[in-house]
Amino acid sequence: MIDVEFKITAERREGLLVELGRIVINCGYTLLRPRTATSGEGVLVTLAVRGPERNLSALSEQLSTHPLAQSFESAVLGGKASAPQVNAAQKPRPAARPDEAYAREVEALLPELARHFPKVLPLVVGFEREISPEYLDEASRYAGTRLGAWMFKRDYSLGARLNLADSVKQIALPAMRSLRSCELVDGKLIVKDSPFCGNGLHHGKSCHFLRGCLEGLLNEPGHLGSFDVEEAACRNLGAARCIFTFTPVD
Ligand SMILES: [Zn+2]
Repeated sequence: MIDVEFKITAERREGLLVELGRIVINCGYTLLRPRTATSGEGVLVTLAVRGPERNLSALSEQLSTHPLAQSFESAVLGGKASAPQVNAAQKPRPAARPDEAYAREVEALLPELARHFPKVLPLVVGFEREISPEYLDEASRYAGTRLGAWMFKRDYSLGARLNLADSVKQIALPAMRSLRSCELVDGKLIVKDSPFCGNGLHHGKSCHFLRGCLEGLLNEPGHLGSFDVEEAACRNLGAARCIFTFTPVD
């Protein structure tokens, strides 16, 4: 057992302690002394927790990458060496590595997405209009992976372990339906009217954000292995619908 104190700053207070507390408990830790204080423009949450040392890096990562977390510090209590420090802006998801050129803009977008969830797609289209065309596809996909991982942790992390087909059916499909109307046909996810198509921002396939969401949702559990998500057809290239396919990676 190890005692650790986390200091997390966030823009808003509502629901924050509940969300962070859930992460703490999911990692097998006990919340000893949660405190919140107003700090500058936001709120400072101090969490003293106790739990198994082997889960500390998972706990640190989940707290630091929470969409509302703006800064993150941790310290092991009792005079031991400092716990691993993870900075949300520097912690890439496996599906897409953020380039520094856009990581900050994505980090700024994430609290907005959390606040307006599930009505996030218009915000992402607005984000795409602002971001340099050079990074547009990557930045949008990366933002999607972050939101997908967040949706997984928020709604599905306590579920049973599932294989790929069941994960697509029981996690990816309902999660994506909360964002946009879609259906599953022969194991492929079909989106009829993606808002990323035909808006003049993309020349090729345009639904990088949705692809990223699927990557985040399916790759976040970790125990499934990792999956390639491809947009096999896109309305922006003249297809009738956007079609996403899923392939396990060895
Ligand atoms: Zn598309």
